[in-house]
Amino acid sequence: MQQGKNNFSKNSNFAQWKEWKISQWWLKQYAALMKHTEDLREWYRIHSRRLHHNFHNMVAGHRMAGPISYLVASSALAIILTLTTLYAPSYMVTINGETVGIVTDDEMVEEAIAAVEQQGTDILGYEYQVEDQIDYQFAISLRTDLSTEKTLENYFYGQLEKLTGEMRKYQVLVDGTVVGVAKDEAAMEELLENLKVRYVSEDTVSSQFLNTVELKPVYQVENIMTMSEMEDALLANKDGSTTYTVVAGDTFNAIAYANDMSVSDLKALNPDVDINRLMVGDILNVKELTPILSIQTTDEVTYTQSIACPVETREDSSMYVGSSKIITQGVEGEEQVEATVTYINGQETAREITSTTVLREPTTTIKAVGTKEKPKTASTGTYRWPVSGRITSYFGSRYIFGSYSYHSGIDISTSYGAAICAADGGTVTYAGYKGSYGNLVIITHDNGTQTYYAHNSSLLVSTGQKVYKGQQIAKAGSTGRSTGTHCHFEVRVNGRSVNPLSYLS
Ligand SMILES: [Zn+2]
Repeated sequence: MQQGKNNFSKNSNFAQWKEWKISQWWLKQYAALMKHTEDLREWYRIHSRRLHHNFHNMVAGHRMAGPISYLVASSALAIILTLTTLYAPSYMVTINGETVGIVTDDEMVEEAIAAVEQQGTDILGYEYQVEDQIDYQFAISLRTDLSTEKTLENYFYGQLEKLTGEMRKYQVLVDGTVVGVAKDEAAMEELLENLKVRYVSEDTVSSQFLNTVELKPVYQVENIMTMSEMEDALLANKDGSTTYTVVAGDTFNAIAYANDMSVSDLKALNPDVDINRLMVGDILNVKELTPILSIQTTDEVTYTQSIACPVETREDSSMYVGSSKIITQGVEGEEQVEATVTYINGQETAREITSTTVLREPTTTIKAVGTKEKPKTASTGTYRWPVSGRITSYFGSRYIFGSYSYHSGIDISTSYGAAICAADGGTVTYAGYKGSYGNLVIITHDNGTQTYYAHNSSLLVSTGQKVYKGQQIAKAGSTGRSTGTHCHFEVRVNGRSVNPLSYLS
């Protein structure tokens, strides 16, 4: 039931053509209907030209001139009415040579295009235009065969879908912040899965991102990242570089301040660095590593750990207050622990012990503690200066009396007759003249350490006497091998002289 071969492109004078085409069709239908009757054929011959103009009037019920009986005309009318109920003049829509639907009006196609163009523009971010070649071919179609606007839209949406599919990239967002753009959704999903299991061990029961990760379709983008670049970006430190390279003039305090950290925090991040000996070029850790994408894993672990010995104390009146002695050393016990451990980026952040089972009980340590009141002359273990004054000669090698020699103590300059005091409590084990030392006092302290006080003008203690810390034991002088009034002070540990400055407080 289709006639006509005229193709009209989208922008031709469609409306005029349509009107002409419809009148032609009615003319031919009418002629076919009357063919079997001579009268009608004759009528057609005579009136074919006029019919073209008058057809519509007739259908509307206007009286017609001609040799047809009223009966014939009315039955023809009935048939025409039936035909127009079932059939409609229409246009086959052909796009790029492919028939996509049948419409009664080209406006339906234009509306579908407009809707899809709007949608395409919104998605793609630039003005999207349907550029297909659209042809209309006149046809008489069953009304039930007519396309809906939806059918046409679907065709154009299909075209748009194909284009966006080719252009679609995936913007990766972590907590709403764009990290980069990936080309392939499946590869990106795979990378995320791999990152998620990065810290998984055989004990791991769950692993998840602490951040919200989204893949958002985008079009018209440049700077597509490779999966390896994407991985680096996701694992990069959130707050920039985590290290700092020391330059001339830097101090530990200044570096801590510049990085908004306390000195102790900076020290904790750099346990091997001597804060007093920073060298240009040293690399310090200045921040905890906090990747843009953080991964939390939870492990369920079982392990054994020791149980400390309980300690039982026993008073001992033969020992001074403050001193103690282990009488029986206990043996540590052992327990099995089950715990749930949480890690963020592989660093433990929480440990919840879910159960403990004692495998072996510890035995008790028995400790004796002194109760005897400490005498004034007992050693404290720390040493005070025997006299205050300037150090005129330090411990170690020195050049004196025209040659190099080893100085076994320090020389403290003081005035003649000044009080020389015991550095700590102890027993006088020497008090008298001794060669180059001159008048010398030696005090042996409770732990065996000895202190020497030399070159005194006079001595105030005698051998065997107990002295307390700070007690005056002599008067300053310049006896023995001496160049002026001073106190030569020596500390001997296990009989060997050591640097007194390491002991004085
Ligand atoms: Zn000396």
